[in-house]
Amino acid sequence: MTGPLMTGPPIWASGTAAHLTIDLGALVDNYRRIARTVAPAAVAGVVKADAYGLGLIPVARALHGAGCRLFFVAHVEEALELRHFLPSVEIAVLNGLPPGTEAAYVGARLIPVLNHLGEIESWQGVCRREGRRLPGIVHVDTGMNRLGLGPDELARLIAEPDRLDGIARRALITHLASGDDPGGHQTQAQYRRFVAARAKLPKMPASLANSPGSFRGRHLNFDLVRPGSAVYGINPTPEAANPVRRVVSVEARLLQVRNVETPMTVGYGATYTVPEAGRIGTVALGYADGYLRSLSGKGAVFIDGRRCPVVGRVSMDLITVDMTHVPEAQAEPGRLVEIIGDNQSPDDVADQAGTIGYEILTSLGSRYHRRYIDPADAREADR
Ligand SMILES: *Cc1c(COP(=O)(O)O)cnc(C)c1O
Repeated sequence: MTGPLMTGPPIWASGTAAHLTIDLGALVDNYRRIARTVAPAAVAGVVKADAYGLGLIPVARALHGAGCRLFFVAHVEEALELRHFLPSVEIAVLNGLPPGTEAAYVGARLIPVLNHLGEIESWQGVCRREGRRLPGIVHVDTGMNRLGLGPDELARLIAEPDRLDGIARRALITHLASGDDPGGHQTQAQYRRFVAARAKLPKMPASLANSPGSFRGRHLNFDLVRPGSAVYGINPTPEAANPVRRVVSVEARLLQVRNVETPMTVGYGATYTVPEAGRIGTVALGYADGYLRSLSGKGAVFIDGRRCPVVGRVSMDLITVDMTHVPEAQAEPGRLVEIIGDNQSPDDVADQAGTIGYEILTSLGSRYHRRYIDPADAREADR
Protein backbone atom coordinates (compact mmCIF):
# COMPACT_ATOMS: atom_id res chain seq x y z
CA MET A 1 0.00 0.00 0.00
CA THR A 2 1.18 3.54 -0.71
CA GLY A 3 -0.25 6.97 -0.06
CA PRO A 4 -0.01 9.65 2.58
CA LEU A 5 -1.18 7.37 5.41
CA MET A 6 1.70 4.95 4.88
CA THR A 7 4.70 7.29 4.74
CA GLY A 8 7.22 7.78 7.53
CA PRO A 9 8.20 5.48 10.40
CA PRO A 10 5.66 2.91 11.66
CA ILE A 11 2.88 4.60 13.59
CA TRP A 12 3.45 2.51 16.72
CA ALA A 13 6.86 4.12 17.15
CA SER A 14 5.24 7.49 17.73
CA GLY A 15 1.45 7.03 18.04
CA THR A 16 -0.35 7.06 21.37
CA ALA A 17 -1.54 3.44 21.58
CA ALA A 18 0.00 1.72 24.60
CA HIS A 19 2.44 -1.12 23.98
CA LEU A 20 1.63 -4.67 25.09
CA THR A 21 4.60 -7.02 24.83
CA ILE A 22 4.04 -10.76 25.18
CA ASP A 23 7.19 -12.78 25.80
CA LEU A 24 6.44 -16.18 24.27
CA GLY A 25 9.90 -17.36 25.40
CA ALA A 26 8.90 -16.78 29.03
CA LEU A 27 5.56 -18.47 28.33
CA VAL A 28 7.29 -21.57 26.95
CA ASP A 29 9.70 -21.59 29.91
CA ASN A 30 6.72 -21.52 32.27
CA TYR A 31 5.02 -24.38 30.44
CA ARG A 32 8.22 -26.46 30.61
CA ARG A 33 8.72 -25.55 34.26
CA ILE A 34 5.26 -26.92 35.05
CA ALA A 35 5.89 -30.02 32.90
CA ARG A 36 9.08 -30.77 34.89
CA THR A 37 7.25 -30.17 38.19
CA VAL A 38 4.39 -32.58 37.45
CA ALA A 39 6.15 -35.22 35.33
CA PRO A 40 5.20 -37.94 34.49
CA ALA A 41 1.75 -36.33 34.39
CA ALA A 42 0.90 -34.66 31.06
CA VAL A 43 0.23 -30.91 30.75
CA ALA A 44 -2.72 -29.48 28.83
CA GLY A 45 -2.76 -25.84 27.74
CA VAL A 46 -5.73 -23.79 28.96
CA VAL A 47 -6.23 -21.09 26.32
CA LYS A 48 -9.80 -19.94 27.01
CA ALA A 49 -10.67 -16.23 26.81
CA ASP A 50 -8.16 -15.53 24.03
CA ALA A 51 -5.42 -17.25 26.06
CA TYR A 52 -6.20 -15.06 29.09
CA GLY A 53 -6.10 -11.99 26.87
CA LEU A 54 -2.67 -12.69 25.38
CA GLY A 55 -3.83 -13.93 21.96
CA LEU A 56 -5.23 -17.42 21.29
CA ILE A 57 -3.31 -18.25 18.12
CA PRO A 58 0.22 -16.99 18.94
CA VAL A 59 -0.01 -18.51 22.43
CA ALA A 60 -1.37 -21.86 21.21
CA ARG A 61 1.31 -22.03 18.51
CA ALA A 62 4.06 -21.38 21.06
CA LEU A 63 2.65 -24.03 23.42
CA HIS A 64 2.34 -26.47 20.52
CA GLY A 65 6.00 -25.81 19.76
CA ALA A 66 6.79 -26.66 23.38
CA GLY A 67 5.05 -30.02 23.02
CA CYS A 68 1.48 -29.27 24.16
CA ARG A 69 -1.01 -31.54 22.35
CA LEU A 70 -4.22 -31.02 24.35
CA PHE A 71 -5.88 -27.61 24.70
CA PHE A 72 -8.85 -26.47 26.76
CA VAL A 73 -11.10 -23.59 25.73
CA ALA A 74 -14.39 -22.42 27.28
CA HIS A 75 -16.59 -22.00 24.19
CA VAL A 76 -17.14 -24.04 21.06
CA GLU A 77 -16.52 -20.84 19.04
CA GLU A 78 -13.02 -20.59 20.54
CA ALA A 79 -12.42 -24.24 19.69
CA LEU A 80 -13.39 -23.73 16.05
CA GLU A 81 -10.96 -20.81 15.72
CA LEU A 82 -8.16 -22.86 17.28
CA ARG A 83 -8.90 -25.88 15.09
CA HIS A 84 -8.33 -23.74 12.02
CA PHE A 85 -4.71 -23.12 13.06
CA LEU A 86 -3.84 -26.40 14.79
CA PRO A 87 -5.38 -29.19 12.68
CA SER A 88 -4.02 -32.18 14.60
CA VAL A 89 -4.16 -31.37 18.35
CA GLU A 90 -6.88 -32.39 20.80
CA ILE A 91 -9.22 -29.53 21.71
CA ALA A 92 -11.57 -29.83 24.69
CA VAL A 93 -14.45 -27.45 25.39
CA LEU A 94 -15.10 -26.72 29.08
CA ASN A 95 -18.59 -25.25 28.78
CA GLY A 96 -20.10 -28.50 27.57
CA LEU A 97 -22.27 -29.55 24.67
CA PRO A 98 -25.07 -27.03 24.08
CA PRO A 99 -28.00 -28.45 22.07
CA GLY A 100 -27.47 -27.76 18.38
CA THR A 101 -23.67 -27.77 18.48
CA GLU A 102 -23.17 -31.54 18.08
CA ALA A 103 -22.39 -31.35 14.35
CA ALA A 104 -19.73 -28.69 14.98
CA TYR A 105 -18.08 -30.96 17.56
CA VAL A 106 -18.02 -33.89 15.18
CA GLY A 107 -16.95 -31.82 12.16
CA ALA A 108 -14.05 -30.11 13.96
CA ARG A 109 -13.11 -33.20 16.05
CA LEU A 110 -13.72 -31.36 19.35
CA ILE A 111 -13.92 -33.05 22.74
CA PRO A 112 -16.89 -31.95 24.82
CA VAL A 113 -16.47 -31.69 28.58
CA LEU A 114 -19.69 -33.45 29.65
CA ASN A 115 -20.98 -31.51 32.63
CA HIS A 116 -24.26 -33.34 33.37
CA LEU A 117 -26.09 -36.56 32.57
CA GLY A 118 -28.04 -34.88 29.78
CA GLU A 119 -24.81 -34.05 27.96
CA ILE A 120 -23.49 -37.58 28.46
CA GLU A 121 -26.71 -38.90 26.94
CA SER A 122 -26.50 -36.48 23.98
CA TRP A 123 -22.88 -37.42 23.28
CA GLN A 124 -23.70 -41.11 23.52
CA GLY A 125 -26.44 -40.50 20.93
CA VAL A 126 -23.96 -38.71 18.66
CA CYS A 127 -21.53 -41.66 18.93
CA ARG A 128 -24.31 -44.10 18.11
CA ARG A 129 -25.46 -42.09 15.06
CA GLU A 130 -21.87 -41.72 13.87
CA GLY A 131 -21.23 -45.41 14.44
CA ARG A 132 -17.92 -44.79 16.22
CA ARG A 133 -16.49 -43.96 19.61
CA LEU A 134 -15.84 -40.21 19.94
CA PRO A 135 -13.83 -38.79 22.85
CA GLY A 136 -15.63 -37.09 25.73
CA ILE A 137 -14.41 -35.80 29.09
CA VAL A 138 -16.53 -36.46 32.19
CA HIS A 139 -16.58 -33.59 34.68
CA VAL A 140 -17.53 -34.30 38.29
CA ASP A 141 -18.17 -31.44 40.71
CA THR A 142 -16.35 -32.12 43.99
CA GLY A 143 -17.04 -28.78 45.67
CA MET A 144 -17.25 -25.87 43.23
CA ASN A 145 -21.02 -26.14 42.73
CA ARG A 146 -20.62 -24.61 39.32
CA LEU A 147 -20.28 -27.11 36.47
CA GLY A 148 -19.98 -30.89 36.47
CA LEU A 149 -21.99 -33.84 37.83
CA GLY A 150 -23.15 -33.16 41.37
CA PRO A 151 -23.44 -35.91 44.00
CA ASP A 152 -26.86 -37.17 42.84
CA GLU A 153 -25.88 -37.36 39.18
CA LEU A 154 -22.56 -38.96 40.07
CA ALA A 155 -24.37 -41.64 42.10
CA ARG A 156 -26.61 -42.39 39.10
CA LEU A 157 -23.64 -42.64 36.76
CA ILE A 158 -21.89 -45.01 39.18
CA ALA A 159 -25.05 -47.14 39.36
CA GLU A 160 -25.56 -47.06 35.57
CA PRO A 161 -22.06 -47.04 34.02
CA ASP A 162 -23.49 -48.17 30.67
CA ARG A 163 -24.45 -44.50 30.20
CA LEU A 164 -20.82 -44.12 29.08
CA ASP A 165 -20.92 -47.06 26.64
CA GLY A 166 -19.89 -46.05 23.14
CA ILE A 167 -18.07 -42.88 24.32
CA ALA A 168 -14.26 -42.89 24.16
CA ARG A 169 -13.52 -41.90 27.77
CA ARG A 170 -10.76 -39.33 27.31
CA ALA A 171 -10.61 -38.16 30.95
CA LEU A 172 -12.39 -37.73 34.25
CA ILE A 173 -11.86 -34.19 35.56
CA THR A 174 -12.78 -32.02 38.51
CA HIS A 175 -11.88 -28.42 39.34
CA LEU A 176 -10.40 -26.98 42.55
CA ALA A 177 -12.19 -24.18 44.38
CA SER A 178 -9.28 -23.12 46.62
CA GLY A 179 -6.08 -24.35 44.97
CA ASP A 180 -4.37 -21.09 45.91
CA ASP A 181 -5.01 -21.66 49.64
CA PRO A 182 -1.76 -23.02 51.09
CA GLY A 183 -3.65 -24.59 54.03
CA GLY A 184 -5.62 -26.54 51.48
CA HIS A 185 -8.47 -28.02 53.55
CA GLN A 186 -10.97 -27.68 50.72
CA THR A 187 -8.40 -29.00 48.25
CA GLN A 188 -7.87 -32.12 50.38
CA ALA A 189 -11.64 -32.66 50.66
CA GLN A 190 -12.05 -32.32 46.89
CA TYR A 191 -9.09 -34.68 46.37
CA ARG A 192 -10.74 -37.35 48.55
CA ARG A 193 -14.11 -37.01 46.76
CA PHE A 194 -12.37 -37.23 43.40
CA VAL A 195 -10.42 -40.37 44.33
CA ALA A 196 -13.65 -41.97 45.58
CA ALA A 197 -15.55 -41.10 42.38
CA ARG A 198 -12.73 -42.34 40.19
CA ALA A 199 -12.59 -45.70 41.96
CA LYS A 200 -16.28 -46.34 41.26
CA LEU A 201 -16.44 -45.21 37.62
CA PRO A 202 -15.18 -47.00 34.49
CA LYS A 203 -11.43 -46.58 34.06
CA MET A 204 -10.15 -43.40 32.38
CA PRO A 205 -7.29 -40.89 32.79
CA ALA A 206 -7.82 -38.43 35.66
CA SER A 207 -7.20 -34.68 35.98
CA LEU A 208 -7.74 -32.37 38.96
CA ALA A 209 -5.08 -29.64 39.10
CA ASN A 210 -5.23 -26.11 37.70
CA SER A 211 -2.12 -23.88 38.09
CA PRO A 212 -2.10 -23.63 41.89
CA GLY A 213 -2.93 -27.34 42.15
CA SER A 214 0.08 -28.17 39.96
CA PHE A 215 2.37 -26.75 42.66
CA ARG A 216 0.69 -28.24 45.74
CA GLY A 217 1.92 -31.80 45.86
CA ARG A 218 2.40 -34.75 43.53
CA HIS A 219 -0.75 -36.53 44.70
CA LEU A 220 -2.81 -33.81 42.95
CA ASN A 221 -1.25 -34.33 39.52
CA PHE A 222 -2.99 -37.58 38.51
CA ASP A 223 -2.51 -38.21 34.75
CA LEU A 224 -2.95 -34.66 33.46
CA VAL A 225 -2.77 -31.12 34.84
CA ARG A 226 -4.61 -28.11 33.35
CA PRO A 227 -2.66 -24.93 34.09
CA GLY A 228 -3.70 -21.59 32.65
CA SER A 229 -2.62 -18.66 34.81
CA ALA A 230 0.86 -19.94 35.73
CA VAL A 231 1.73 -20.38 32.06
CA TYR A 232 0.88 -16.68 31.68
CA GLY A 233 3.11 -15.67 34.61
CA ILE A 234 0.55 -15.35 37.41
CA ASN A 235 1.97 -16.62 40.72
CA PRO A 236 0.37 -20.04 41.47
CA THR A 237 1.66 -19.94 45.07
CA PRO A 238 0.70 -16.43 46.27
CA GLU A 239 2.16 -17.04 49.74
CA ALA A 240 5.65 -17.65 48.29
CA ALA A 241 8.00 -16.31 45.60
CA ASN A 242 6.66 -16.68 42.06
CA PRO A 243 8.10 -19.86 40.48
CA VAL A 244 7.17 -18.71 36.95
CA ARG A 245 8.35 -15.81 34.78
CA ARG A 246 6.43 -12.67 33.89
CA VAL A 247 5.12 -12.91 30.32
CA VAL A 248 3.39 -9.54 29.89
CA SER A 249 4.79 -6.01 29.78
CA VAL A 250 2.69 -2.88 29.29
CA GLU A 251 4.03 0.58 28.54
CA ALA A 252 2.00 3.69 27.87
CA ARG A 253 2.82 7.08 26.41
CA LEU A 254 3.28 10.20 28.55
CA LEU A 255 1.24 12.89 26.78
CA GLN A 256 1.63 16.03 28.88
CA VAL A 257 3.32 17.22 32.03
CA ARG A 258 1.92 20.24 33.86
CA ASN A 259 2.80 22.19 36.97
CA VAL A 260 -0.26 22.44 39.17
CA GLU A 261 -0.66 25.15 41.80
CA THR A 262 -2.50 24.40 45.02
CA PRO A 263 -5.35 24.13 45.79
CA MET A 264 -6.26 22.63 42.41
CA THR A 265 -7.89 19.25 41.94
CA VAL A 266 -7.18 16.55 39.34
CA GLY A 267 -9.60 14.65 37.14
CA TYR A 268 -13.28 13.66 37.17
CA GLY A 269 -15.09 14.19 40.43
CA ALA A 270 -12.18 16.26 41.79
CA THR A 271 -11.25 13.35 44.05
CA TYR A 272 -7.62 14.43 44.45
CA THR A 273 -6.30 17.79 45.56
CA VAL A 274 -2.67 18.61 44.86
CA PRO A 275 -1.26 19.16 48.37
CA GLU A 276 1.61 21.45 47.38
CA ALA A 277 2.86 22.85 44.10
CA GLY A 278 3.56 19.75 42.06
CA ARG A 279 3.80 18.18 38.66
CA ILE A 280 1.09 16.02 37.14
CA GLY A 281 1.72 13.77 34.16
CA THR A 282 -1.06 12.59 31.85
CA VAL A 283 -0.60 9.08 30.44
CA ALA A 284 -2.49 7.62 27.46
CA LEU A 285 -4.05 4.58 29.13
CA GLY A 286 -7.44 4.15 30.76
CA TYR A 287 -10.12 1.74 31.81
CA ALA A 288 -10.92 1.04 28.15
CA ASP A 289 -7.46 -0.59 28.07
CA GLY A 290 -8.14 -2.70 31.14
CA TYR A 291 -6.48 -0.25 33.52
CA LEU A 292 -9.30 -0.82 35.97
CA ARG A 293 -11.13 2.18 37.39
CA SER A 294 -10.60 0.71 40.86
CA LEU A 295 -6.93 1.69 40.43
CA SER A 296 -7.99 5.34 40.91
CA GLY A 297 -5.81 6.68 43.71
CA LYS A 298 -4.32 3.16 44.19
CA GLY A 299 -2.18 2.30 41.18
CA ALA A 300 1.17 3.65 40.04
CA VAL A 301 3.38 3.90 36.97
CA PHE A 302 7.17 3.70 36.95
CA ILE A 303 9.42 6.18 35.19
CA ASP A 304 13.04 4.99 35.08
CA GLY A 305 12.41 3.00 38.23
CA ARG A 306 10.70 5.91 40.07
CA ARG A 307 7.21 5.18 41.37
CA CYS A 308 4.60 7.76 40.31
CA PRO A 309 1.24 7.19 42.05
CA VAL A 310 -1.99 7.46 40.07
CA VAL A 311 -3.84 10.53 41.41
CA GLY A 312 -7.49 11.27 40.72
CA ARG A 313 -9.79 8.95 38.83
CA VAL A 314 -8.84 6.63 36.01
CA SER A 315 -10.60 7.92 32.85
CA MET A 316 -11.54 5.92 29.77
CA ASP A 317 -8.37 6.77 27.83
CA LEU A 318 -6.17 8.60 30.35
CA ILE A 319 -4.65 8.46 33.81
CA THR A 320 -2.97 11.23 35.77
CA VAL A 321 0.11 10.53 37.87
CA ASP A 322 2.12 12.50 40.40
CA MET A 323 5.49 13.23 38.78
CA THR A 324 6.68 15.82 41.28
CA HIS A 325 9.77 13.78 42.12
CA VAL A 326 10.76 12.86 38.56
CA PRO A 327 13.69 14.97 37.28
CA GLU A 328 12.79 17.29 34.41
CA ALA A 329 15.05 15.43 31.98
CA GLN A 330 13.09 12.18 32.46
CA ALA A 331 9.70 13.87 32.26
CA GLU A 332 9.68 14.40 28.51
CA PRO A 333 6.23 14.08 26.91
CA GLY A 334 6.23 11.39 24.24
CA ARG A 335 8.22 8.88 26.28
CA LEU A 336 6.86 5.54 27.47
CA VAL A 337 6.21 4.76 31.13
CA GLU A 338 6.00 1.32 32.74
CA ILE A 339 2.55 0.00 33.66
CA ILE A 340 3.50 -3.70 33.98
CA GLY A 341 7.18 -4.63 33.89
CA ASP A 342 10.26 -5.15 36.06
CA ASN A 343 8.89 -2.92 38.83
CA GLN A 344 5.34 -4.27 39.04
CA SER A 345 3.87 -7.59 37.94
CA PRO A 346 0.26 -8.30 36.91
CA ASP A 347 -0.20 -9.72 40.43
CA ASP A 348 1.02 -6.41 41.94
CA VAL A 349 -1.39 -4.38 39.80
CA ALA A 350 -4.14 -6.81 40.81
CA ASP A 351 -3.37 -6.26 44.50
CA GLN A 352 -3.60 -2.49 43.99
CA ALA A 353 -6.93 -2.90 42.18
CA GLY A 354 -8.38 -5.35 44.72
CA THR A 355 -8.65 -8.16 42.20
CA ILE A 356 -6.62 -11.11 40.82
CA GLY A 357 -3.97 -11.23 38.10
CA TYR A 358 -6.38 -13.24 35.93
CA GLU A 359 -8.70 -10.22 35.67
CA ILE A 360 -5.84 -7.84 34.90
CA LEU A 361 -4.71 -10.02 31.97
CA THR A 362 -8.15 -10.80 30.54
CA SER A 363 -9.14 -7.11 30.73
CA LEU A 364 -6.25 -5.82 28.61
CA GLY A 365 -8.40 -5.43 25.51
CA SER A 366 -7.71 -4.79 21.87
CA ARG A 367 -6.40 -1.23 21.71
CA TYR A 368 -2.73 -1.99 22.28
CA HIS A 369 0.08 -2.11 19.85
CA ARG A 370 0.98 -5.76 20.44
CA ARG A 371 4.44 -7.23 20.12
CA TYR A 372 5.26 -10.91 20.47
CA ILE A 373 8.77 -11.99 21.39
CA ASP A 374 9.39 -15.28 19.64
CA PRO A 375 10.53 -18.24 21.77
CA ALA A 376 12.91 -19.61 19.17
CA ASP A 377 15.29 -16.73 18.60
CA ALA A 378 13.91 -13.90 20.77
CA ARG A 379 13.21 -11.93 17.60
CA GLU A 380 10.36 -9.49 18.04
CA ALA A 381 7.42 -9.73 15.72
CA ASP A 382 4.84 -6.97 15.33
CA ARG A 383 1.31 -8.21 14.90
C1 LIG B 1 -9.75 -22.05 33.77
C2 LIG B 1 -9.66 -23.47 34.15
C3 LIG B 1 -8.41 -24.06 34.40
C4 LIG B 1 -7.13 -23.25 34.46
O1 LIG B 1 -7.09 -22.59 35.71
P1 LIG B 1 -5.83 -21.71 36.20
O2 LIG B 1 -6.16 -21.36 37.59
O3 LIG B 1 -5.79 -20.52 35.30
O4 LIG B 1 -4.63 -22.55 36.04
C5 LIG B 1 -8.38 -25.43 34.63
N1 LIG B 1 -9.52 -26.17 34.65
C6 LIG B 1 -10.74 -25.63 34.46
C7 LIG B 1 -11.94 -26.49 34.54
C8 LIG B 1 -10.85 -24.25 34.22
O5 LIG B 1 -12.06 -23.71 34.07
